[in-house]
Amino acid sequence: MNYYEGEIAKYEKRLQTIDRKPRPDMLACNRLLYQALLDHDREQLRWWREGKPFMSASGGGMAILTRVFGEFRTLGLVGMADRMGSKAAEAAYQKIWSMGLPDYSCDRTILLLPIAASGVDLPKLSMILTRTGSCNVANNSHRTLAELMGIPFFMVDVPFEDPYQENLPYVVKQLHELIAHVEAKLPGAKFDGGRLMELQRLDRQRMAALHDIGRLRKHVPCPDHPRDVFREPLQCAEYTNPLAIVEYYETYRDELADRVSRGFTPVGEEKLRIVWAISGPYGSKAWDYLAQRGVSVPFWQYGGAEKNFIRPIYGDESEFGKALTPLEEVARTLLYNSWGGTGERWINDVVAACREFRADGLVLFEQTGCLPVLGLGKPVADRVDKEMGIPAWCADGRMLLGHTANAEAQFMAGLESFVNLCFERKGRR
Ligand code: SF4
Repeated sequence: MNYYEGEIAKYEKRLQTIDRKPRPDMLACNRLLYQALLDHDREQLRWWREGKPFMSASGGGMAILTRVFGEFRTLGLVGMADRMGSKAAEAAYQKIWSMGLPDYSCDRTILLLPIAASGVDLPKLSMILTRTGSCNVANNSHRTLAELMGIPFFMVDVPFEDPYQENLPYVVKQLHELIAHVEAKLPGAKFDGGRLMELQRLDRQRMAALHDIGRLRKHVPCPDHPRDVFREPLQCAEYTNPLAIVEYYETYRDELADRVSRGFTPVGEEKLRIVWAISGPYGSKAWDYLAQRGVSVPFWQYGGAEKNFIRPIYGDESEFGKALTPLEEVARTLLYNSWGGTGERWINDVVAACREFRADGLVLFEQTGCLPVLGLGKPVADRVDKEMGIPAWCADGRMLLGHTANAEAQFMAGLESFVNLCFERKGRR
């Protein structure tokens, strides 16, 4: 069974479960999400079987560039690694060793290499587009993949200096070079500016809905379930039907607005609010545990969270002091990332999120091998303690590999102690 066949079977089963036994604490729009993912996987499989071409992109804002050169489809490899599950991850790990690759990179960035390089689990790629200034580990693993497969790649260099607005022309110049590179290296590829504007129009709708979702999650009690907050937003361009992704987020927003108007929260009675940061325990019981204890997680802070939920979007003229052209709008989505500046940018953004979302505690889940936040746990913890009087828990570990019952039990014990500490500190504030 290849990757898509496995995913199709999974989503068919998941939809049957939702139809048979819907959970009252989960969003009804999750059905739209799983249906969109199922339709996407079926369509990708058809495209592959017909021998049609695929590209991949790494880093926030890059996927849109894979869809503007004619009929290329996109493989979002980091998201695919996230969905592998521990069993498939362990099998992939054996291949990583046999390929002579390093095993100290985070799971999200290393597990994709054997499945993508084989040309059996996934279609062979024609080209990879990457960037610096979001997660440089993911950037490096995609560049390694291009080397392993002997295919062309292009990397956009995004400077980390502030004020980041001054770097707009430098990034736009590279986007012109990227277009020339793709057209020169891929037979039949031709940049389509109209297609870019069409995708940006849809993405503007998606981001407007995400910004509304971010605002609605600030409400006390938080209308969203911790499990749904811990979902990385899907980029329209990675999906065969971008409109289905827009519809999912607009329905999601409307459903949260309805919950706010009714004062409904899926955690029962909200007793505590925790901001979650960096990464998390995929496939763990943590989210249901938090909900059962009356703990909301109103915000998940990661490199692209500011861009997705908070900062200016398409059409805004305040950020750069002018209206932007379509290519400048692409550059805007690349330019600000909480992990794309000095450590101070990340620290400030985390502290601001804790304030905005009225956190009683902060969890910093640092995956083994995660470089963007290396060494920043203590300074962040010190700042939220000093400025807000709230505790932080610096948890670390693998996400999928070695995810044994014992590892889960240890993590859950640590989480329980931290929640107890937050209750105690809140009682004293
Ligand atoms: S966990 Fe860290 S290293 Fe891994 S993809 Fe996320 S930011 Fe990159």
